[in-house]
Amino acid sequence: MSIYNNHEEYAEKIGCTLEQAERICAHYLKLHEDAVESSTCPECGGVLYYESSDAEYSSECWVECEGCDFTDDAEKYPALHFGYDFDVLLWFSTMPTEEREREIRDWQGLIAMEIANMEGTKVV
Ligand SMILES: [Zn+2]
Repeated sequence: MSIYNNHEEYAEKIGCTLEQAERICAHYLKLHEDAVESSTCPECGGVLYYESSDAEYSSECWVECEGCDFTDDAEKYPALHFGYDFDVLLWFSTMPTEEREREIRDWQGLIAMEIANMEGTKVV
């Protein structure tokens, strides 16, 4: 269970409408579902996870199996990657309101923009 299973709670947390919360929650639930589906190792049936290089100027990333030595190109596992999509709205919502208002002038505008971005994201 996550907050995405309860869009009323989500709406209250970030201060958006129920309709918006429903769309955001549906987005993240779908991503997590796809991530679970594409996270099975073809070699041993173990769990694949997403790994990236810690090197500062490197954007290198790959998937690794926790059960065997299987590794593969991360690009072949877009859902696994997007499954860890960062929920910036939820992150900002944990800030004290004053601080958040200093950071973001147009909170409602940001919510609307995030939803537009999500719905433009195609997860294959
Ligand atoms: Zn494996």
